[in-house]
Amino acid sequence: MAATTVTPAVPRPAAAGPAGADSVAVPLALPLPVLHSTVLGWYEANARDLPWRTPEATPWAVMVSEFMLQQTPVKRVLPAWAAWLERWPTPADLAAEAPGEAVRMWGRLGYPRRALRLHAAAVAITEEHGGGVPDDHATLLSLPGVGEYTAAAVASFAFRQRHVVLDTNVRRVFARAVTGVEYPAQATTAAERRTATALLPADAETAATWAVAVMELGALVCTARGPECGDCPLFTACVWQRAGCPPYEGPARRGQSYEGTDRQVRGKLLAVLRAEHGTVEQARLDAVWPDPVQRARALDGLVADGLVEPVEQGVYRLPQ
Ligand code: SF4
Repeated sequence: MAATTVTPAVPRPAAAGPAGADSVAVPLALPLPVLHSTVLGWYEANARDLPWRTPEATPWAVMVSEFMLQQTPVKRVLPAWAAWLERWPTPADLAAEAPGEAVRMWGRLGYPRRALRLHAAAVAITEEHGGGVPDDHATLLSLPGVGEYTAAAVASFAFRQRHVVLDTNVRRVFARAVTGVEYPAQATTAAERRTATALLPADAETAATWAVAVMELGALVCTARGPECGDCPLFTACVWQRAGCPPYEGPARRGQSYEGTDRQVRGKLLAVLRAEHGTVEQARLDAVWPDPVQRARALDGLVADGLVEPVEQGVYRLPQ
């Protein structure tokens, strides 16, 4: 099949990108409707049965899942998400507790500042929005800790709206299938946003499913290190595949090292504080890591981030 250039005639959603984004020419080996039906058909047959995707999932449940999934794999999120919603089934339930309880409940999901942000968002929803997760993108974006991705994801997945939802999985699929490079840029570019906008189905319901379908394709098939191109519904259309899978030539990609890093020390310090419902003496924190300089730096970082509260000299607790 010869590659063609199409200019999708889709309306530009209010929050989907800059003016003129819908007129971008996107090189594709498939007409846009065929691309949509191919990916949507694959999703229907292969989507994982995840609880936050069920019709019973509340907007709050979707929002919690999006906070947790940003930097943590689905397998680790599943039990934490269920426990979180059992304890705090509404934003008001979480807002009624101290932020330290959110940090404690976050457990070992990593990047615990997300717990503080989710707590702050729950407080704002409760105090300023009547206790219900807002259904419009701009208001979602105004919540503490909610960035462009999360606002678009919640509006799409919880409220079935039409928005560009660009996470790492979606960006990787578009980089390969549409742009023909192995990996996207480190940070989202305007060009990526224009491409994603041009590919978005015109009606909101289909666009919402398209967003999660492309994400799922990136998570299950077009994975970062070992894409299963033979199982991919876009195999014959993928620009990167058709070009012979040229290797990545961009700047060095960030590694995911953990051992020996300040992140690891922070995790160990926080584990001691999470396990203790009162205050913790400095000596107990000193026992978790041998290097005093790195340990002090990690503890200072936790205090600066609001994850740990100094009570008096050498005594700490989770934030109240
Ligand atoms: S053919 Fe391979 S590289 Fe292209 S979208 Fe599918 S899995 Fe990704």
